[in-house]
This record gives sequence, C-alpha cells and structure tokens, in this order.
Amino acid sequence: MSELIQSRSPQNPDDVVAEHAPVPPHRVADLAARARVAQAVWRREGPAGRASALRVAAERMRARADATADLIVREVGKPVAEARAEVGRAAAILDYYAQSCFAATGDLLPPSLPAEQPGLLYTERRPRGVAGLVTPWNFPVAIPLWKAAPALATGNAVLLKPSPEALACAEAVGRLFDGLLPDGLLQVLPGGAETGQAVIDAADVVSFTGSAAVGAEVAVAAARAGVPVQAEMGGQNAAVVLPDADLAATAAMLAAAAMGYAGQKCTATRRIVVVGDPAPLTEALVAAVAALPCGDPARADVAVGPVITPVARDRVRDAVEAARADGGRVLTPGGDTGLLVAPVLLDRLDPGHPVAREETFGPLATIFAVPDLAAAITLVNDVRYGLVTSVHGRDLGLLLEAARGVDSGLIRVNAPTTGVDFHAPFGGEKASSHGPREQGTAALDFYTSTRTVTLAAPPPPPVPAEESA
Ligand code: NAD
Repeated sequence: MSELIQSRSPQNPDDVVAEHAPVPPHRVADLAARARVAQAVWRREGPAGRASALRVAAERMRARADATADLIVREVGKPVAEARAEVGRAAAILDYYAQSCFAATGDLLPPSLPAEQPGLLYTERRPRGVAGLVTPWNFPVAIPLWKAAPALATGNAVLLKPSPEALACAEAVGRLFDGLLPDGLLQVLPGGAETGQAVIDAADVVSFTGSAAVGAEVAVAAARAGVPVQAEMGGQNAAVVLPDADLAATAAMLAAAAMGYAGQKCTATRRIVVVGDPAPLTEALVAAVAALPCGDPARADVAVGPVITPVARDRVRDAVEAARADGGRVLTPGGDTGLLVAPVLLDRLDPGHPVAREETFGPLATIFAVPDLAAAITLVNDVRYGLVTSVHGRDLGLLLEAARGVDSGLIRVNAPTTGVDFHAPFGGEKASSHGPREQGTAALDFYTSTRTVTLAAPPPPPVPAEESA
C-alpha cells in the first residue's frame, strides 16, 4: 500500500501528471467520521446555501475550462474537442443540481385519520449521510461530478475514490469546491482497490462506475455492509442498421461512436448489426473509419487518440488475434504505435465468440449480418450486457419494434450509442447495471431516503360532563 499512485500521460508515458501516496484503508473510517461531522452542518444549510456553493463551482468550472480540458487531454488522452465538451457538460451538471436544491423534497398524501382530526400525511427525502463514490478514468471530470453534485445538493457528504489513472482530474474537481463547503464534507481519496473497498465499507450510500467485474464485487460489498448501491458498468453495445437507413450518414455516425476516443466509452458501439445485405454499409464504414483522424489528442481535428495503458493496448491486440484465429476478418489496416491503436473493424466472426460477447475497451467493433429485424433483436439481446442500443432507419414501425424489443437501458433511434443526457435517468440492464438509475432526478432519489410522516392535530379535548348533560 505504500507505493505511490501515479498517473501518466498515455501519449507521453514519461510525463507523470499526478503522484500521490494512496490513502491507507485503515485511515478511511476516520476520514468518513470527519465527513459525517461536516454533513451534520451541511444538511442544516438551506437550499439557497447549497445551491450557491454548486453555482460557484459551476462558474469556476467555466472560468477554468481551457486548463481543465487540457488536463483531461494530458492525463487520459481524450481528444481535445471531446475534452472541451466534457468540461462544458460538467459545468451544466453543476448548474442543474444547483437548481435541484429547490426541488420538492416529498409528496403530500391524504391522511387516514378520524374525520374530526385534521392532519397531514407527507413524505420527506432526507440525505443518507456519507456518499462513497468510486469512479473510472474515462470521463474523469463528468462522472465524479454527476455523482458528487446530486449527493451534495441533497445534503450528503462525499468521499470520492477516483481512478488512479485520473488522479489529477479528480483533484481539479475537488478544488472547484475550495472554501465553499464545511471542512471535510468533500474529500478526494487517492488509492486503488483497497482504498475503494474501505470507502465502500465506511459509506452510507455507494455509487460506482467501472468494469463489470469490479462492479459485481462492489455490489456484494455494499449489500454486506447494508447500504444502498448503484453500479454502472460495461456494455457490449449494438447498433442495428435497417435497410432504409441513410448509408453515408449512418456509417459516419457509427464510425465515430465505435472509434471516437479510441472506443473508451461505456456507450461505444461495439457490434454493428446490419439487416439485409451488409456489403454497402461495410464498405461505407471502412471508408468512414479510415477518414477518422488518429494521433495526438491535443490536436483539434483528432478523433482517435491513444488508449490509456499498455495493458489496454494488449487487450485490443489479443482480441484481434483471437478473432482472427477463429475466422474473423480484419477490415482495417490495424496495428499500433506506442499506445496509439489504429481502429479495428471486424466481420465474419461468430456472434457467440468471446470477442463478440465481451467488452474490449478500445477501438474495436464487429459487423454482423442478419436477415430481418427479429434476428437482429435476438442477436442484440444475446449478450450479458444491456447498456445502450442504437437503431438506424426510416420505417417508423420497424424503429418502434426495435425500440420495444432490445433489452438495454438506453435506446437511441437515429442517434449514436454514445451521448448521455445528464437530466435523464441513465443506466443499463442485465450485467451493465446494478441498482437504481443515476443522473437526472433519479439521482436525487438515490442519495436520499424517504421518511413518511403522519402529522395529526391533537385529539379534540373531551367535552365537560355538565355540558354534555
Ligand atoms: P475499473 O473497474 O478497473 O475501476 C473503476 C474504479 O474502481 C477505479 O477507481 C478503481 O480503482 C476502483 N476499484 C478497482 N477494484 C476495486 C475493488 N475491488 N473495490 C473497490 N474499488 C475498486 O474500471 P476502469 O478501467 O477505471 O473504467 C473502465 C470501465 O468502466 C469499462 O468497463 C467501462 O465500460 C466502464 N464505464 C461504465 C460507465 C457507465 O456509466 N456504465 C461509464 C464509464 C465507464
């Protein structure tokens, strides 16, 4: 545990972006106790005070937009155009949850009281206490904020255990709140798996985003600790292309959704399911992928930068080799230089092959051909994941049938699988998600627990005996 946590720039691994001693797991309980003291103060802060803190954080985010986008590019290799979009979204998330401080905190229901006794029956959402947030590296600013902002807005404290690969970005998120919150209310705790486990053990509510394997462990640990948990995990997302889809526009959209940011999004398109003859779309896709500028993520035109680590690069290499060995055809030049991995399009792969069924977190997608929509839906649903599916075409009946048939938490018609609306519920089905949705108003529910209050007027005084005579 004494080894330093280091994050290195993927495009220049000699560049150490952040370095920090990990928080030892045995310290986390004390830090949580400190957070709990701060939370007792924060929960009594009115909505205006909480909203004001979040609004100032949003203003700081906008004032620091360029520097933060540059840091995202440097630390996780995200192409700069996407990094800027992430920063813009982060500020909007803070604005949205600032406003949500004024949202209703419960419902009014008809009470079941005797007719002569007036009263109220109402619910009240109360903060849960200390929120333990464990986050991945790929949206290093937006994901910590889309968890922390609703947690803070609803009156909770936050312990954020960021990914070691995105430590500097997490520290930048923490600095947005400098001087705005009671001491210890929001703490960024650098560390790896053990620190993450300690945060889960100490928290009153847990929100995790990351891989399916770790998410399953987190869900078990939180259940054992008896605290509510949501885990957002991987996907093996499909795009269904109907015969009447606009070929060029769909190919460009799918190329970007599969390969943008080197495919390192949980929502990236990984399976392209073509209904009917796959040849024209395959040709258009190969051209669209070839047209994506790859290289230095700091360049404004680049769409595909490096993958995050040598391990990530090796996983793509291994997946390509495994697919090829079992009859898969590689349609693009492929290859890698340093951590820059050229996008890989495959076809002729058995849909039951592990490469077709499991997430490879990199620029790799596979094309499948099916005779009709029913077969497409069967293929889409025949994996353990269910995060997002896109459907492309014009026939409204078929589009609606597809939307009804696919088993994923997000369904995007004539829109890329990538793309998240922070004001709408977000999450998947099956192994992609565990627990309630996050974002939007769903997050306000998650970080609070509902109390039901019956408030009856005192019973009427007994009528004096002489009067009743
Ligand atoms: P990861 O699972 O390796 O790590 C996620 C976080 O968990 C990190 O902070 C890590 O340090 C921590 N961790 C690791 N082991 C732990 C343990 N045993 N207990 C507690 N914490 C532990 O994921 P990653 O490589 O950072 O991110 C990539 C993955 O995240 C992909 O699978 C991707 O699909 C997924 N992802 C999902 C979403 C979504 O919203 N569904 C969004 C982004 C990324």
